[in-house]
Amino acid sequence: MTAPTPRWIRNFVDGHLVEPDERHGFDAIDPATGHVHARVHEAGAPLVDRAVTAARRALPGWSATPVRERTEVLRRAAALIEERREEFTAAEVADTGKPVSQARELDVARAVTNFRTFADLVAAAGQESSLTDLPDGGRALNYAVRKPLGVVAVIVPWNLPLLLLTWKVAPALACGNTVVVKPSEETPGTAALLGGVLAEAGLPAGAYNVVHGFGPGSAGEHLTTHPGIDGVTFTGSSATGAQVMRTVAPRVRPVSFELGGKNAALVFADADLEETLDGLTRSVFSNTGQVCLCTERVYIQREVFADIADGLVERARALRLGRPADAATTTGPLISTAHREKVRGYAELAERAGATVLTGGGVPALGDGLDGGSWFEPTLWTGLDHTARPVREEIFGPVAALLPFDTEEEAVALANDTAYGLAASVWTRDLRRGHRVAQAMDVGTAWVNTWFLRDLRAPFGGTGLSGLGREGGDASLHFYTEPTNVCVRL
Ligand code: NAD
Repeated sequence: MTAPTPRWIRNFVDGHLVEPDERHGFDAIDPATGHVHARVHEAGAPLVDRAVTAARRALPGWSATPVRERTEVLRRAAALIEERREEFTAAEVADTGKPVSQARELDVARAVTNFRTFADLVAAAGQESSLTDLPDGGRALNYAVRKPLGVVAVIVPWNLPLLLLTWKVAPALACGNTVVVKPSEETPGTAALLGGVLAEAGLPAGAYNVVHGFGPGSAGEHLTTHPGIDGVTFTGSSATGAQVMRTVAPRVRPVSFELGGKNAALVFADADLEETLDGLTRSVFSNTGQVCLCTERVYIQREVFADIADGLVERARALRLGRPADAATTTGPLISTAHREKVRGYAELAERAGATVLTGGGVPALGDGLDGGSWFEPTLWTGLDHTARPVREEIFGPVAALLPFDTEEEAVALANDTAYGLAASVWTRDLRRGHRVAQAMDVGTAWVNTWFLRDLRAPFGGTGLSGLGREGGDASLHFYTEPTNVCVRL
C-alpha cells in the first residue's frame, strides 16, 4: 500500500503559490489529535530572497496607487474572506485545534474587520501641518508628507494566526507598503490562503508574499537579515523580539514589537460578582490561555477571596475540552506537545512552590482519539507567593494564580511588580477607583469591568518586556509610514 500524498501548504511569492520542494518540508500537526494534517514547504534563503525582491519590485507601483484604489482592494479582500469564511475557519482549526465557532467568530471575523477598519482609517487620514510665526513677522508653512515605510517584514505567532497577521498586513498595505510575511511554523495555513484572496481582490503581484519556516537558520532569520527589508513588525515572545532587534540593529531599521505578558486582574470587594466571574473566566481561559492578553495573576481583595475562588473553580470545571467541531466544546488544546510540556513544567513548579491546586493541574484523559493531542486542564492555584516563578513568568496556558490583597495601594504595587507591561483588568463598581487604578497600571491597555474589548482605533502595545511602540489607529499609520517635513517660507 502506498502512503497517501500529503497536502502541501505552499509559500506565496510574487502573486503565485510556489511549487513545493519535497526535500524541504516539515509536518503540520493537528494539536487536537497529534496527527499530521499537511506538509509545509520550508523557504530557504533563495526563496526568501525571491519574496523580498518581488516585494521591492512591486513597491513603486503599489505605493503610487491612489489611496482610494488601495483601500478598495482591502475592502474587496474583506468581502472575499467573508465569502470563503468556512475555508479560512477550517485552515485555522486544522493548525490550532481551537473550537470551530471561536475560529469563525474571533479569528476570521477579526480578519475581515482588520481590512475594513484600516481601509477606512487610511482613506480618512489627513496630514499634519502647522503655521510658524517667524521673528521678522513672516510665516512658514510646515506640513508632513507621509510615505510608505517600504518593504515590511511581518513575523507573527501561532495563537491567533490570521487575526494577528491581518492586524499588521492590512494597515501596511493600506499605507502603500509591500510585505513579506513569515507566519508561525505551527500555523501556516491561513497566511497562504490569504495570498489567493488578495490576488483576487486586485492586489498587484509581489505586494503580499508568504515564506514558511522557523526562526533561527530558517525563513525568520533569512527575512530579518535580508538587506531589502525596510522595517520589521513582530508579534511573539519577548526573547525572540530581543533577538530580532539585535539582528536588524546594524542596519538601523524601525521595529514594532508586540511581545509577551504576565497580565494581572485586580478584583475589589465591591465588584459585581457574576460580571467579574464571567470576565475573569474569559480572561484566564480564552483560547486555552493562549492570548497575549490573558490573565495569569488574579489579585483579589481578601473579603471576597473565597467567593471569587469558588466561582472561578465552578466555571473552570464547566469548560468542555473536546473536538473542535463539537458544539459543546469550549476549550481547545495547547498548540503543541512541546508547549504542553512547558505548561506542565510550570504546574509541577507551582506545586513544589507550595501551591494548592483548586482545579486541574494536569493532562486530561479525553479518549475519543484525542489522547495524542496536546491537552491541559484548566488550572487554578492558590497559596503561591508573589515571588514564585509561576507568578513571575509568562506561562501562556489555561492557568492562573489567585492571590489576596488588602488595600488598593497594595494591589497596584503587586500588579505593577513585573518586568512585563501588556494589559491589566480592574473589577469594581466604584467608577472613581476604576479610573484611578486603571491609570496607575504600567501597561499598554488597562480595562475596567471588561477584558479584550478592542476598538482598533485605540493604540495597542506594551511597556517593559511586553513590547516597543504601538499599533492601532494613528499609531499604525505612523509606524507604516515615514514623514517628510516640508517647510515653506511664505
Ligand atoms: P515566538 O517568539 O517563538 O515566535 C514568533 C514568530 O517569530 C514565529 O513566526 C517564529 O517562527 C518567529 N521567530 C522565532 N525566532 C526567530 C528569529 N530568530 N528570527 C526571526 N523570526 C523568528 O512566539 P510564539 O511562541 O509563536 O508566540 C507566543 C508568544 O507571542 C507569547 O510570548 C505571547 O505573549 C506573544 N504574543 C504577543 C502578542 C501581543 O500583541 N503583544 C500577541 C500574541 C502573542
